[in-house]
Amino acid sequence: MHHTSPDLSHFDHLLFNTSGGKDSSAALAEAVETAEAAGVRDRLTVVHADLGESEWPGTVQLAAAHAAHYELPFTTAARRHPNGAVETILERVAARGRWPDAKRRWCTSDHKRGPIRKEMTRIVTNLRESGKVLRRPVRLLNIMGLRAEESAARARRAPFAFDATASNGRREVYNWHPIHSWSTARVWRRIEQADLEVHPAYADMSRLSCRFCVLARRKDLIAAAHLNPEYAARHAEVESDIGHRFRLDLSMEEIITATERGDDRPQGVLFPCIQP
Ligand code: SF4
Repeated sequence: MHHTSPDLSHFDHLLFNTSGGKDSSAALAEAVETAEAAGVRDRLTVVHADLGESEWPGTVQLAAAHAAHYELPFTTAARRHPNGAVETILERVAARGRWPDAKRRWCTSDHKRGPIRKEMTRIVTNLRESGKVLRRPVRLLNIMGLRAEESAARARRAPFAFDATASNGRREVYNWHPIHSWSTARVWRRIEQADLEVHPAYADMSRLSCRFCVLARRKDLIAAAHLNPEYAARHAEVESDIGHRFRLDLSMEEIITATERGDDRPQGVLFPCIQP
């Protein structure tokens, strides 16, 4: 059944990356099942890249609840200010004077991938200090819920592959995407079967990314501005301060104008009285 699954027992540690979203949820259910079948469920831990205010409220708590559902250790990783507070993407945009875009996705590399690699370093140090792995690099499996359907770039990724940039003299990192070939319908079925809670923002959003993701669909951005008017206004302020558009084809100001016109008004949250 799991013909694309790697042999999980080969790895010293299995690190599951969750965003708290639907793909992460379905992938977590699969990863737990596969680890159980391989007899290495005790090597599995869950990490969430905490993006602070950039995320929908409740996302960190939901990610933690998913880990607790399977009784797995949970931790967060984040880019932080010297005082310990999570540094948000909007703060970085204000400081840099530029928004990220598809070619310069520093939001993902600096706020997700970088902090997750620090978590890998911590795991490797613990395994070495406990004497569990000596005289060879630690074998670490990094597990994510990416799917081919999401984008051409993701479709090109192998479901299981060595990650040369995450690896070093102390660790060999492999990436595994257990639901790479899955359809959206299959993802929702798996979540239902696993009885995992979903974020309420899915009533109005097709994806649970950052609340205002530069790569999101126009419809999702307008729905997000309806639901987060104050945060949208702060994005528009930064946009006007730095003189760089949120996106070339769509400024934050245009998103807010479309919201005020009533375009793509979300139904689920603003008018709860008409919901069944
Ligand atoms: S969800 Fe969008 S804005 Fe947030 S880190 Fe990912 S690409 Fe960047």
